[in-house]
Amino acid sequence: MLTTLIYRSQLNPSCHSADLISLVERAKIRNTGLNITGVLISNGRENLQILEGAEESVVSLFHTIRADKRHFGVVELLRDYGPRRRFENVGMLLFDLQVQSQKEVLQSVLHYSKLESYLTSDDRVFKFIQTFITGKKASPTGTPFDVEKWTLSSEDLPFGEGVGLIANQFCQFALQPIVEPTEGKISSLEALIRSNDGGSPEHFFHSLDQDKIYEVDLQTKAYAFALAKKLGIGGHKIAVNLLPMSLVNVPGAVEFLVKQIRLNGLQPEQVIIEVTENEMISGFNRFNSAIKQLRAEGIGLAIDDFGSGYAGLSLLTKFQPDKIKIDREIISDIHLSGPKQAIVKSIVSCCTDMEITLVAEGIEKMEEWCWLEYAGIRRFQGFLFARPKLNGVGNINWPHLAR
Ligand code: C2E
Ligand code: MN
Ligand code: MN
Repeated sequence: MLTTLIYRSQLNPSCHSADLISLVERAKIRNTGLNITGVLISNGRENLQILEGAEESVVSLFHTIRADKRHFGVVELLRDYGPRRRFENVGMLLFDLQVQSQKEVLQSVLHYSKLESYLTSDDRVFKFIQTFITGKKASPTGTPFDVEKWTLSSEDLPFGEGVGLIANQFCQFALQPIVEPTEGKISSLEALIRSNDGGSPEHFFHSLDQDKIYEVDLQTKAYAFALAKKLGIGGHKIAVNLLPMSLVNVPGAVEFLVKQIRLNGLQPEQVIIEVTENEMISGFNRFNSAIKQLRAEGIGLAIDDFGSGYAGLSLLTKFQPDKIKIDREIISDIHLSGPKQAIVKSIVSCCTDMEITLVAEGIEKMEEWCWLEYAGIRRFQGFLFARPKLNGVGNINWPHLAR
C-alpha cells in the first residue's frame, strides 16, 4: 500500500551543506531503486523528510535512516496511506533553507507536488511541510475578541434550492455548514440523516430492524452524495456520519462508498467520514483495516464528539485523524468555565503539533465563538452560524466588526 512517512531530526553539527549534497546524490540512486520518493528540507539545524513508496520499502528505509550518525533526535511525525504519491517519483530532492528563501522553497516543493491546491489545504502532509518551512505555527490570537464589537449578518448561498427526493428514497439529509468566519469561508458541509417525515437520526435508526442498521447506514450515504450533486457543491467538502461497524460488517463497504462518490461527480478527497470518539474506541482493532482502506482511497477521517468519550487524547497516540470535532458539551458556555477552557487549550496545543484540523461544534453564543477564536480555533459549526436545512444549505450568519 502506498505509504507516506514524515520524520523530523536534528542535523549533526559536524555535517555541513556539502555533506548534505553528497548524501542526497547517493540517496537519489538508492531511492530510485527502491521506488521511493524522499523530499528532504533542511534549515542547517533541523531536517524534515517526507518518504513515499510501498509500505515495506518505506519502513525498512526509515529503519536505516534512523541509525544514520549524520543526524540525531529522529521523531516520527506521520505515517499514512494514500491513493497516489503527493510528489513525483523523483528519488530524492533536497531543499536547503540556508540557500533559498522560505517562499522559494515553498514554491518549489509545491511545484513537485501533484495534488490540486484545494485538495492540499487540509492535507496533514502539506501542513507539516508548510509549518517547517515558514517556522510559523497557528497559535492563539493573543488578544481576546471583544464580543461587543461583533455583529452577525446573514448571507444567501449559491447552492441549488428545493430539491425533492429520489424515487424510493427511504430517508433524507439535512446539511449544516462548518464555517471559517474570519475568512468568510465554508470549510465543509455536514450531512445529517433525517427520516422521511423529518425525524432525527435517533428516530430514524430506532425505526429500523436492528440487524439492518449497519447496512442501511452505509446505503444512505448514496443519498447524501446525490444531494451534494443536485445542489452543485462544486469544490466544497462534504462530511458524512457513519458507524464504524458499517464499514467493518458490510462486505465491500469502502468500495461501495467510493463508487457512490464517483457516480455523483465527487472526488474521494472531498469526502470526510465522521466517527464518534466512543465508537472509535470500542471498535478500534476491527476498524483499523477499514481506516487503512479509506486513507488509501484518499477519503478523510474525522473524530466526532471528541472529549465526550473515555479515551481522550490517548486515542491520538494510536491514530491521528485529519480532523477533530470538539464535543458540544465542552464548547457550551466555555467563556464561563475555567476547566472547559483548560481542556480546550490542551486540545488546541496537541492538534497544532499533530497538524490535525480542529472544529468546535454546537456554537450557539457569540461569547463562545469569541473565546474559541482567541484560543486558536478557526472552524465552527453551530446554530449561531447556520442551522441544518433539509435537502439544502440554509443561510449563513457571518460575524462582522461593528462600526
Ligand atoms: P453530530 O454528527 O455531532 O451532528 C451534529 C448534531 O448537532 C446535529 O444533530 C445538529 O443538528 C446538532 N447541532 C448543530 N449545531 C448545534 C447547536 O448549535 N446547538 C445544538 N443544540 N445542536 C446543534 P442531529 O442532526 O440530531 O444528529 C445527531 C447525531 O446523529 C449526529 O451528531 C450524528 O452522530 C448522528 N448522525 C447523523 N446522521 C447520521 C448518519 O447518517 N449515520 C449515523 N450513523 N449517524 C448519524
Ligand atoms: Mn458529525
Ligand atoms: Mn458531533
